[in-house]
Amino acid sequence: MNHKLVNDQIVLATGNKGKVAEFSSLFEQYRISVSPQSEFLVSDVAETGSTFVENAIIKARHASRETNLPAIADDSGLVIDALKGAPGIYSARYCGQHGNDVGNYEKVLRELEGQHNRSARFLCVLVFMRFANDPTPIICQGEWHGKITTAPSGDGGFGYDPIFFLPEHNCTAAELDKSVKNTESHRAKALKQLMASFSDHL
Ligand code: IMP
Repeated sequence: MNHKLVNDQIVLATGNKGKVAEFSSLFEQYRISVSPQSEFLVSDVAETGSTFVENAIIKARHASRETNLPAIADDSGLVIDALKGAPGIYSARYCGQHGNDVGNYEKVLRELEGQHNRSARFLCVLVFMRFANDPTPIICQGEWHGKITTAPSGDGGFGYDPIFFLPEHNCTAAELDKSVKNTESHRAKALKQLMASFSDHL
């Protein structure tokens, strides 16, 4: 692992507790010390982009500007084919209330009532910016494919996990062992790429 990064502090540009928990165990595997932006009292920033990539850049740039540290931001969400990609970048606030996980997945279940095509994927874009005006951010993307259930099941994970069914495990992401989610998820895959880029480019 790149020596500079092991010693440097990196800020994680997310306030989502579920993501912070998953990232801390993921980063532990890579021996990188990352501190959530809440430790630096970073203010909220409006996610005004129309793609995951734009929003991840907005969040990383903002956290780096306010802390003067390198920053990693994640923009992620659920993409459903039969809903033309929704909830997509609006995943966190799909029901109209930011962070209302139950309201969000209930809306998805209602919209898919009677629908046979239940294919979906989680998507995670990770952006690393060395400083706020970094003109060459590192951008990585991971996907996790599954099917939307007809009812929620399981109480692990967060967000849409209770309605995201994984045929190869015969359970939802909320019923899956944490360690399995941490190796197979969209976030784990994007992070693996980011760690490979760190060793290649920094
Ligand atoms: P963001 O904070 O704008 O990136 O919003 C991401 C939203 O996507 C979260 O609030 C969740 O609703 C959803 N999401 C992202 N990753 C996951 C996951 O691993 N499991 C379940 N829901 C997720």
